[in-house]
Amino acid sequence: MDIFTSEQFEMLLPLAAVWAEEQERMILLSGVPLTESQVEDARQIGVLHPDRVRLLRVPQIPVPTHPALATAAQVTGLISPAGWGVAFRYGIFIRNDCWTCRELVAHELVHVVQYERLGGFEEFLRPYLTECLTPPGYPHGPMEQEAITKAAELCKPPLIIQNEYKSNTPSTSC
Ligand SMILES: [Zn+2]
Repeated sequence: MDIFTSEQFEMLLPLAAVWAEEQERMILLSGVPLTESQVEDARQIGVLHPDRVRLLRVPQIPVPTHPALATAAQVTGLISPAGWGVAFRYGIFIRNDCWTCRELVAHELVHVVQYERLGGFEEFLRPYLTECLTPPGYPHGPMEQEAITKAAELCKPPLIIQNEYKSNTPSTSC
């Protein structure tokens, strides 16, 4: 790990887990449930409890205020106001201008599946942050690649009209 020593990582991980859980609690209180088509996407992706998921629309992704975490977020760039979305188990922030992006929501739902599979905040964050902080780093690790690939698969147009899309539709922006 180039950015942090393993001692620093072990100090930051529990702080990050507490912060992530606080974000989830807040999103579950004020977010909205998935729409019917989003529930269908969640099922396709493999989310066990789509009914528990809430989306919260925000002008920008909130960053931690704890000084050590704020510095870590800034140094790694993993949590930034410029992000499009981020999942904290069943709570997902979606930036305002990306609210209708199906592929982004699908991407975050793959992270929900990973939380369900791994069983908790620290259990998710340890492998996820490790892959992000170890070369080649974000977004090349297996967990991030799983989210990118599954979301793209879910959202790709049916094969029969794919050629039409290639010539007529600009690539999606988020
Ligand atoms: Zn991701």
